[in-house]
Amino acid sequence: MSRKRIIVNGAAGRMGKTICHMVVNEKNHELVGAVDVINTGQDIFKFLGIDSKKELYINNDIVEEIQHKDADVVIDFTNPEVIMDNIKKVLKTKTNMVVGTTGFDQESIKVVEELANKYDTSIMIAPNFALGAVMMMEFSKKAAKFFNQAEIVELHHDGKMDAPSGTAVKTAEMIAENREKPESKVKRKFIENLEGARGAEFDDIHIHSVRLKGLVAHQEVIFGGEGQTLKIRHDSIDRESFMPGIKLAVNNIEDMDGLVYGLEKMMDI
Ligand code: NAD
Repeated sequence: MSRKRIIVNGAAGRMGKTICHMVVNEKNHELVGAVDVINTGQDIFKFLGIDSKKELYINNDIVEEIQHKDADVVIDFTNPEVIMDNIKKVLKTKTNMVVGTTGFDQESIKVVEELANKYDTSIMIAPNFALGAVMMMEFSKKAAKFFNQAEIVELHHDGKMDAPSGTAVKTAEMIAENREKPESKVKRKFIENLEGARGAEFDDIHIHSVRLKGLVAHQEVIFGGEGQTLKIRHDSIDRESFMPGIKLAVNNIEDMDGLVYGLEKMMDI
């Protein structure tokens, strides 16, 4: 496999730092650029406490970084407010992208697909790069055939900007698509004593978002049926959990066409 020249966008963030470490330690990867709007001008190796003979300064301009570094792929873990702008800039330079940033809706996914086709580039967007989380979603999809009620509880650290999580929305989409007997559209009567008590709703699937210090990324899908419940749960207890999925995406993105939404498309499950 050829060596991949990688730029990390959001390099000084929680995920960005772990990804830079992963790239530096992977023999087929090379960190050629680090971009962030904070800690600009600092040597990323010193910033991360990595002993390196090379110096690589954090730049705040992704386009300039791409133009100077001849990168194969940009990995983006920034934030939902800037991600569409980042994608437009990067795809325009005809550089492939692996995106973990969340906050997409169906409309923005469509726009990304059009951009990838227009610039003849490949882009993978995955709401969750943890392999176990992808399996949790796939098992939920299978269970959806046999249960017509499901609720999702997603739990994240208190620094997460958006809610519900991209994983929760994607899971709800997968359940909704695979339910054979959707729950009756006729709402059962209930009284909400406090507004929001039943959480958000996606196609009759309620989603509850918990934000607390000490958490990383967790999700439980609860199915209800006559006389039984089924719970499918995944816990990312460390950001390392996302690294194998990101590596898989970086190593395969060149062989993909246009937009690939969801890591399961690259996994044989
Ligand atoms: P964070 O806030 O710690 O890091 C984001 C970084 O992006 C910050 O350093 C910030 O300064 C930088 N940034 C903001 N605007 C920028 C811009 N225009 N250009 C360059 N850098 C910019 O957040 P985090 O916890 O690292 O999470 C980042 C994103 O990844 C979030 O959307 C989060 O939900 C998502 N996430 C996805 C997965 C997954 O598996 N897909 C896993 C964890 C987190």
